[in-house]
Amino acid sequence: MARTVYDKPLVYLDNAATTQKPRCVVEAMVDEYYNVNANVHRGVHFLSQKATDLHEASRETVKQFINAENSSEILFTRGTTESINLLAYCFGEAFMEAGDEILVSEMEHHSDIVPWQLIAERKGLKIKVIPITDNGEIDIKAYNKLLDESERLKIVCVTHVSNVLGTVNPVKTMVESAHRHGVPVLVDGAQSTPHFKVDMQELDCDFFAFSGHKIYGPTGVGVLYGKERWLDKLPPYQGGGEMIKRVSFEKTTFNDLPYKFEAGTPDYIGTHALATALDYVSAIGFDTIKAHELMLTDYALQQLRTIDNIQIYGHPEGGNGDAVISFNIKGIHHLDLGTLLDRLGIAIRTGHHCAEPLMHRLGTEGTVRVSFALYNTKEEVDSLIAGIRRVAKMF
Ligand code: PLP
Repeated sequence: MARTVYDKPLVYLDNAATTQKPRCVVEAMVDEYYNVNANVHRGVHFLSQKATDLHEASRETVKQFINAENSSEILFTRGTTESINLLAYCFGEAFMEAGDEILVSEMEHHSDIVPWQLIAERKGLKIKVIPITDNGEIDIKAYNKLLDESERLKIVCVTHVSNVLGTVNPVKTMVESAHRHGVPVLVDGAQSTPHFKVDMQELDCDFFAFSGHKIYGPTGVGVLYGKERWLDKLPPYQGGGEMIKRVSFEKTTFNDLPYKFEAGTPDYIGTHALATALDYVSAIGFDTIKAHELMLTDYALQQLRTIDNIQIYGHPEGGNGDAVISFNIKGIHHLDLGTLLDRLGIAIRTGHHCAEPLMHRLGTEGTVRVSFALYNTKEEVDSLIAGIRRVAKMF
């Protein structure tokens, strides 16, 4: 990377938090602001129609990117967190009553826990937890047992890839099992969409959420995919703007999908930039991305394992780990390691990674986390390892 920090070349290994943006994404935003800026859906004038075309073409790009059946199944949101809040609120309102149950995994990000807690509190629902194994994988036996035993289960919520462990969960099989019990599944795709192809027809999940900024797109825009037959039955989330058909003081009727869920002026600059990012990723291709990131992850794991007193979480031998590695080094607080690596120009993340229940399960209050993107290099992994060794010597 050309950027330097503290006079050192920046080694950016915090991609699970957010990715850096390719020039085409930034240029798409600048170009639209300069040349095509007008509010969408409302104007008959040239610019408004152009902006609307770009916005709706972006929906089509997302539809194709995740292989949804219909572009009306693509709801634009501010990101994964808002997507899940929308779903928890609307699904809870439509389908859940006091005593009903929600299943979430022990490795969920807070964004896939707290929205469910909020609706659970309001409606007297119960949250049950799918445990993980010591290897950092979903305990599938326990999951199936929970499915068998839970008579009032209404939804399963599971992350596709853990933002702490890098574990890729067997969501396709989990969806099949849940469906055998007549229960829909939400997949949190925040950490899978940047790294491998996700396919709604293949996964057959009922809902899928992801964020633009983690896949080289802009901040403030994300997606909630939902099967049409579910979305049709959900009430609106917020009111105002394009989500209505007719409004009177006596009664308001709501718009068709997807607009029913998109109140107010959408982030049309963001959606166009997100589509540009998805096109960028598609042009490189997931075969290339996956192979490169797997090489980096394997190499980093191999090098990290040579460091004294290191504990790496998840990533069992022969396991199914993605481009995220969490670890601790005995005797060095994760925050100290992160701060000292930063002084060497190496950006990694420390703390609980918005997964406090998982930290509890791992028996730690935080970890150091490195996470890769398609632009990282083997030399950057070497810098990380050299940096860790240098810091370790100071303790
Ligand atoms: N879910 C997972 C697995 C994540 O890693 C993150 C962000 O780190 C989120 C949800 C929340 O994403 P956002 O902050 O973009 O809404």
